[in-house]
Amino acid sequence: MNKKSSYLFLKAALFMGFFLTISSCKKSGETGLLPPDLRKQTVVDAATGTGSDVMMQAFYWDVPQGSWWNVINGKIPAWKAAGIAAIWLPPATKAQGGGTSMGYDPYDYFDFGTYNQMGTIPTRFGDSTSLSQLINTAHSNNMKVYADIVLNHCSGGTLEANPYTSTNTYTKFTPLSGKFNRSSSDFHPNDIETADEGAFAGFPDLCHKKANVSNWIYNASYSMSKFYKNNIHFDGFRFDYVKGYGAWVVKNFVNSVGGPASVFAVGEEWDGNAANLQNWVDATEQTSSAFDFACFYAMHSAFDNNDLTHLNDDMLLKRNAAKAVTFVSNHDTDITYNKYSSYAYIMTHEGYPCVFYKDYENLLDKNRMNNLIWIHKNLAGGTTTNLYSATDQYIDKRNGFGSIPGLIVYFNGTDNWQQQWVTSNWANQKIKEYTGVSNWIQTVAADGRVLIQAPPHAYSIWSVTGL
Ligand code: CA
Repeated sequence: MNKKSSYLFLKAALFMGFFLTISSCKKSGETGLLPPDLRKQTVVDAATGTGSDVMMQAFYWDVPQGSWWNVINGKIPAWKAAGIAAIWLPPATKAQGGGTSMGYDPYDYFDFGTYNQMGTIPTRFGDSTSLSQLINTAHSNNMKVYADIVLNHCSGGTLEANPYTSTNTYTKFTPLSGKFNRSSSDFHPNDIETADEGAFAGFPDLCHKKANVSNWIYNASYSMSKFYKNNIHFDGFRFDYVKGYGAWVVKNFVNSVGGPASVFAVGEEWDGNAANLQNWVDATEQTSSAFDFACFYAMHSAFDNNDLTHLNDDMLLKRNAAKAVTFVSNHDTDITYNKYSSYAYIMTHEGYPCVFYKDYENLLDKNRMNNLIWIHKNLAGGTTTNLYSATDQYIDKRNGFGSIPGLIVYFNGTDNWQQQWVTSNWANQKIKEYTGVSNWIQTVAADGRVLIQAPPHAYSIWSVTGL
């Protein structure tokens, strides 16, 4: 649990006046060059690191209450025009916090704002009708919709005598949807298991080895996974706090609805170690991507702590580009940050970039962001070769793939304009700078060498002219 989560948790606990049952847990296109059968899903080519899609995390912590689904609904056309291919929504079902909850304290996994419980019919974000309208709008714009899934814990149960603890615990769940009733034997400890990989802040911790739990979550015909995909029409899933349970649960969930060819999945494996991220993806048998926390922390070290050589650090995107979801910030992370350079890094490199709503809509220049998204979709193809690496200047080359020409990205950490001769993959061609910071039109020599420049504490991105 991070500081904000701790704060929110304690705030909620004090507000609600009791401790164990409440919650606020949290602590996370166009593919024009791909054949039609690959356009159905988010695609990143593992061999080349080529990926053209960009997703939007369509919320931040404590979004306004009441009509968030409508807010997002109104933004879909502009996001589509900017090149956003998918949106990740916050947990959409009724949580213990009712109309104030961000959704990470799940109570009724099948109440999308239909039943009057936890003090409200709608969730914080709206009712089930407004959610359906949002999903319809997204789909009519060929945009995917990803659900946020909290499977580690539940919240809001009533008190019952618990034979496994010999105390009374808040583990009796009888939600008004009538689906997924659960009680003490469905949580840890119980008759078959004391604990799993992790528990969260004292919330009742689901035991995924229990048939009642696995049936309702993915196994049975009436499961969450099938209901979310086939009835609500979600196209993918973001799994919250996957350190709290086995990766096999994610694998079974994804495979219960057609596997990765049918739905997208990404796990919040909050770990800055790239090998650990790779191990988690491997444990899901490649059914799920993971957020690239290794890239996240490396960028923080590179751009905020002024040592660009940290861009050489190990990252999931360098190990398994097809399963890396790269990001600069999210609803949990609030590190003060050189966000433009970080977005320039993830948009010019391998992986599936996720743009944070607050950055895009509230904090950063939308034109600059749209420029980077365009660059990701139109220039950033192929493998990566480092051309220059020092603490204060760093230059990478994307080698191109198919008709995607590749690019050269130049990060400058100094107080002055800098320039470097680099060896490109082009010869006797003109190149230009695509973010607008330099008006140089350079002619590449026959041997590939070309001189490029970059502005202080920022970046430049170069490719052949005419795109
Ligand atoms: Ca757990």
